[in-house]
Amino acid sequence: MTKQSPTNLIPLVDLRLQHEALKSELDQALSRVFTSSDFILGREVEAFETEFAAFCGVEHAVGCGNGTDALELALWAVGVKPGDEVITVSHTFAATGEAIVRCGAVPRFVDVNPDDLLMDLSRMEMAINPKTRAIVAVHLYGNCIDIKQIVSVARSRGIKVIEDAAQAHGGTIGGLRAGSLGDVGCFSFYPAKNLGACGDAGALVTSDSDLAGRVRQARDHGRQGKYEHAFIGRNSRMDAVQGAILRIKLRHLEKWNKRRRQIADRYCRQLALFPGLRLVNPPPDSEPSRHLFVVQIDERDAARQALLRSGISTGVHYPIPLHKQSAFTGLYQPTDASLPVTEAAASRVLSLPIFPEMTDEAVDRVAKSLAAAISKG
Ligand SMILES: *Cc1c(COP(=O)(O)O)cnc(C)c1O
Repeated sequence: MTKQSPTNLIPLVDLRLQHEALKSELDQALSRVFTSSDFILGREVEAFETEFAAFCGVEHAVGCGNGTDALELALWAVGVKPGDEVITVSHTFAATGEAIVRCGAVPRFVDVNPDDLLMDLSRMEMAINPKTRAIVAVHLYGNCIDIKQIVSVARSRGIKVIEDAAQAHGGTIGGLRAGSLGDVGCFSFYPAKNLGACGDAGALVTSDSDLAGRVRQARDHGRQGKYEHAFIGRNSRMDAVQGAILRIKLRHLEKWNKRRRQIADRYCRQLALFPGLRLVNPPPDSEPSRHLFVVQIDERDAARQALLRSGISTGVHYPIPLHKQSAFTGLYQPTDASLPVTEAAASRVLSLPIFPEMTDEAVDRVAKSLAAAISKG
């Protein structure tokens, strides 16, 4: 095997290019924070919260430590209690289910659609029972699920809807932002997300002022003023450094998402009709954030190896569904004996490189190498 020079490598994501382009803006923001020496919450985080709420089209954003905490705080805030059931999918990142279990509740996993790999809404409706307190709808890969439909099913039954929008910053459903249509939307600013901090950070968005106030208190030790604690909260505050960095990056998000969609469209044009390969299609009337570009193929692991030999890094989101993870053994409520679409997806999904700075030439090289790998495979 010949050794590739690093310039020939195509990574799954490349954050260095983004940070090089923003270097002077980021330096200024960091120096503002050091000058103020106000390192936790404070002015920068408040300003980011205001700007992110406006971006999402909601009344309030509350910054917190990370996306997993955002989900846990959201479940707590809508009243999920030990013994309650929360409907969600198994085909997602572990944090979605973890947050439910950490609230003492029981996840009830339902299967996904083969076409978009998002929660199957007819199965979701069948899974509702008297113990169901909430639904966590995941906009996986940045493909936005039909939240309006979920809300209309849930509301009449007194069930709360939480959006896991950790992969969907800036995506829309019927022209409205992901995160803005449920009772609460949860975001992660993990560095590799469409809007990423330089460390861990997260946020909840909502137009429910009462709920926002409770979460604001809960993330800061249940504090009411400096020395009074109204209830047992926790420490999940956003750092000022992250707030300042996120304010800068938020101004570029729409442009970055637009480029991600161009890249995805370019992949689709070259791969849509390729035999042996199935795309993951965004639902109609939605605009995906294109966090990940995922294809479904039979000989996934062989194709991955072949791409790696051509200097192309890929990912698998996710190879083991939550109901098959040892962490969740005995902690979930299976709706069916198995989740066939979820299990098939886990063995077939492959995430191709996508990031705003990726060139058209790199996209074409990935598409061609994948096509070659499948033809040979
Ligand atoms: C990233 C992610 C999370 C968790 O966010 P962290 O900030 O890493 O805690 C939750 N759900 C989904 C779908 C994610 O992709």
